[in-house]
Amino acid sequence: MFVPRSLKVRRNANDDGGSCAAKKVKPEAEDPQLGAGGDGPPDDASGTKEAALAAHHGAQPCPLPGPASQMPEGGLAGPGQRAQDSDLLEEPVKSFSKTQRQAEPGEPVCVVCGRYGEYICNETDEDVCSLECKAKHLLQVSGAEDQLAPGGPQKAGSGPAAPRPASYVYTEHAFISNLREDQIENLRRQLGIVVQGSGVPRPIIDFEHCGFPEALNLNLKTSGYEVPTPIQMQMVPLGLLGRDVLASADTGSGKTAAFLLPVIMRALFQSRMPSALVLTPTRELAIQIERQAKELMSGLPRMRTALLVGGLPAPPQLHRLRQRVQVIIATPGRLLDIIKQSAVELGGIKIVVVDEDKKLFKPPVLVFVDCKLGADLLSEAVQKITGLKSTSVHSEKSQPERKNILKGLLEGDYEVVVSTGVLGRGLDLVSVKLVVNFDMPSSMDEYVHQVGRVGRLGQNGTAITFINNNSKRLFWDIAKRVKPTGSLLPPQLLNSPYLHDQKRKEQQKDKQTQNDLVTGANLMDIIRKHDKSNSQK
Ligand code: AMP
Repeated sequence: MFVPRSLKVRRNANDDGGSCAAKKVKPEAEDPQLGAGGDGPPDDASGTKEAALAAHHGAQPCPLPGPASQMPEGGLAGPGQRAQDSDLLEEPVKSFSKTQRQAEPGEPVCVVCGRYGEYICNETDEDVCSLECKAKHLLQVSGAEDQLAPGGPQKAGSGPAAPRPASYVYTEHAFISNLREDQIENLRRQLGIVVQGSGVPRPIIDFEHCGFPEALNLNLKTSGYEVPTPIQMQMVPLGLLGRDVLASADTGSGKTAAFLLPVIMRALFQSRMPSALVLTPTRELAIQIERQAKELMSGLPRMRTALLVGGLPAPPQLHRLRQRVQVIIATPGRLLDIIKQSAVELGGIKIVVVDEDKKLFKPPVLVFVDCKLGADLLSEAVQKITGLKSTSVHSEKSQPERKNILKGLLEGDYEVVVSTGVLGRGLDLVSVKLVVNFDMPSSMDEYVHQVGRVGRLGQNGTAITFINNNSKRLFWDIAKRVKPTGSLLPPQLLNSPYLHDQKRKEQQKDKQTQNDLVTGANLMDIIRKHDKSNSQK
């Protein structure tokens, strides 16, 4: 379940429940566009500034006492706000972490202990669950700042004027350098680490080999990361060297920290913001990655994340994005929406949406449906939901239109083509790698032509077919045709009574045909039967 952050009431960590002092807004948090744009809270008065910051954290301004606490027009308060706020006034700020509940998915989490981040730490703008964790958090921050910035203490998120700490360059630890090449090879072999490419650094064996700041080493220990997992051993030094990496490892093998650790180190020692964009296919994964990033970044100065995912209100996410964050964790759909709608500056991160998509989704997917309207609607839906460039082809499109579409398809202009049967036959679309029969065609003949659009000229391809009871009369034919290719058939199809009925009927028919054949073995039987029926007449 996703709980929109904007519906959560959150207070400053030092409120005693009786005073809801307006939250101090740092200069970089102010954004004139937000007041005018309507997609974020206005910032023309202290109360509205509070709302702006509240929106950034998904928080709501406290309505009492005094005029500064009036609910600003256009603020993000929900209908139940007043009731929630009066509840809030009766409940004192939690003193201890253990009295705080666990965070629900999508809710802010305490940067120290990971429980529900009910409050915002005024000094650092981070989420905390209690006074206890606020104190710990402030200690961690000042400790880390002392280690990283000898020029004096500096507050997290305190703006561009902050002097950057000394730079970080990954150098191989002496322990690793002293190992022989055959020992390294043996280590990789035993851990199942396979590398390709030139100049791949040796794996680390301990996190201490990376020369991380003490605060980060401490976070690793607190998270229970005593030793790196194999993917981390090899990937962390690669990432720390700034190399491009394509890595693959099993689920649960520690891939997230493998890329987060180099990302955090880069963000720590780089003044450009944001310094990293993590794209994930699902919002659940994005939430999980942000949680892990916060855990690892805890206590490190000026480390902030923005989560851009669907299913949660966009304005607080956009507002957060404008707060000078180091790491953005996003799903592609929400990121594209935010970029398109708000022309938000993503610092040094260059996003070339169309080209990247083309690279990822070439060659095109050919989707077959059974009617023209279906083709138009599905094509529109695909484009809207996935952002992939999609078009439809059917008999109502004029010949020049169809020709243009086909040309575009062959030149890679479209990533998805939704078609009725018109593309099923004849055309040699050699570049199609995936056919989806969104509607099962009405005959096996047609089906064979449609799936035949992939794998032409000896190339490999994949066909995915959706079937339901509308094509029940073809079940046995489909099974007979597709099973010998080694394709996976769903149990719902294989166990369907229609399929068994058709199979039985076919077997009976075969038997009948067999019986009707005249052979040496049954010749006398046939003559006797014939005589008998004649004598009865
Ligand atoms: P992942 O594959 O990134 O989803 O990680 C799976 C789980 O392993 C997560 O709960 C991580 O917190 C945990 N994890 C990652 N790296 C380590 C490590 N080096 N030691 C112990 N646990 C780890």
